[in-house]
Amino acid sequence: MLDPLPDLQRIFGFPDFRGVQRDVVDRVLAGERTLAVMPTGAGKSLCYQLPATMLEGTCVVVSPLIALMHDQLRAATAVGIRAATLTSVDTNREETIARFRAGELDLLYVAPERASNESFRNLLGQAKLSLFAIDEAHCVSEWGHDFRPDYRLLRPLLDSFPDVPRLALTATADAHTRADILDQLGLPKDGLIISGFDRPNIRYAISPRDNVNRQIADIVAKIPGPGIVYAQTRAATEKLAEALGRTGRPTRAYHAGLDPHIRAKNQADFVASEDMVICATVAFGMGIDKPDVRFVAHAGLPKSIEAYYQETGRAGRDGDPAIAHLFWGAEDFARARQRIGEVEPERQAGERTRLTALGGLVETAGCRRRILLKHFGEDRAEDCGNCDNCLGNVDAVDATETARKFLSAVFRTGQMFGVGYIEGILTGVSSERSLMNGHEALSVYGIVEGDETALLKPVARALMIKDALRTNPHGGLEFGPAAKAILKGEATVSIIVPPKRERRRKAAPGA
Ligand code: ADP
Ligand code: ZN
Repeated sequence: MLDPLPDLQRIFGFPDFRGVQRDVVDRVLAGERTLAVMPTGAGKSLCYQLPATMLEGTCVVVSPLIALMHDQLRAATAVGIRAATLTSVDTNREETIARFRAGELDLLYVAPERASNESFRNLLGQAKLSLFAIDEAHCVSEWGHDFRPDYRLLRPLLDSFPDVPRLALTATADAHTRADILDQLGLPKDGLIISGFDRPNIRYAISPRDNVNRQIADIVAKIPGPGIVYAQTRAATEKLAEALGRTGRPTRAYHAGLDPHIRAKNQADFVASEDMVICATVAFGMGIDKPDVRFVAHAGLPKSIEAYYQETGRAGRDGDPAIAHLFWGAEDFARARQRIGEVEPERQAGERTRLTALGGLVETAGCRRRILLKHFGEDRAEDCGNCDNCLGNVDAVDATETARKFLSAVFRTGQMFGVGYIEGILTGVSSERSLMNGHEALSVYGIVEGDETALLKPVARALMIKDALRTNPHGGLEFGPAAKAILKGEATVSIIVPPKRERRRKAAPGA
């Protein structure tokens, strides 16, 4: 059996393997098919790059993004690995093909759409292959959050070289997606290697949005180091950059609509800076190696727990304390649900499961890290002590009674009015509209008073997360599938309140 350690030290200059790297490399060197699930920054590339230099033949690396491939190519070449990319944008394809045929390449990076290409398959048959490395392997699964149909074409290609070992790699896979990857790529169940997902130095916090520019400006004011703010739209990134600039911090915007030169410069400025805040769409961050990011703030809901983990994971790679703060609104969930309605029917179940999991993370009054890690298959027995809920910034109260009143008011007014109107009815605020609609005669009119009033907005949000309430295109509320169980008393609704409000509520019971 080959000992990879001397080569690791000689070629990469690292004193030792990190985490599960050694296990993965050993399996690959032994020719065993493997799926490695390792969080971003854990050092996945080394798991195929090192064997590629040790084994005879060329390692074919399948990677979904040309930009990422070129980053990898640069990094590999820098340590003296003989590597090339074969993509539609490369101008040196003839040369690359010649080098491959002559056995002069350790690594050949290709896009998945090559796989179905007959001439590419023939080419692969013309030289010795050492390994197939399939990067971002979750793209093969419809359960994954980033399904790419081209990945489905890989299997026949892999199967036509049955003796070449396979290594699939991903940072983001829940149990369901993992099983699917094994299945889709023909890997054995015992070929799964998972590394620890915990990032103990990241402090997680999740809050409802009220004035998001101010909320994020507060973070910027508190935390002096570099930070990333993720926003949903291009316009929002620019507005945020402008608003945060007023705090005196250097800020930049980053999104796909910017002139490529400006975008590249903004990114380079950020990487070089020790105090810059970059306001970006999720396009930002892939392949960026900036270890000292001190905070990642989300101005809106990410796509999934996987996406949240990946995006927040860009904070604190140096191991020093960092903050991940997510701000969300009920409308984020409504919009996400609407989007799910628009994807292909066979993907909707997976998307819905993902959104529910995310809702669970947002809604919990328990330890965020435990939920996060559980999602990646790690059960831990203790709370982390380093998330907003563990630190006692919040408290959960049972609000089932209020939730039932709310649902009942929505029902009795015909499932067409928005949150503000329903609040008005429940608290008995007379208006021309409620008079004209005859709603002041309803039994729910004015049944909420005193401190319970403060629960109405959070209750409405909780009901939307649970899919007990949905918004129609005009902002009117209507019942979702979860409404019935709550009305019938079969399900409870708890909400999270800041301790100050909680104290007031306790001080004046029934006021
Ligand atoms: P991933 O693809 O899993 O996000 P990378 O392969 O980009 O991670 O590696 C992340 C960083 O860790 C890189 O800067 C890489 O050089 C470094 N790295 C990888 N393996 C080791 C190791 N054994 N010791 C020290 N640094 C390592
Ligand atoms: Zn915790």
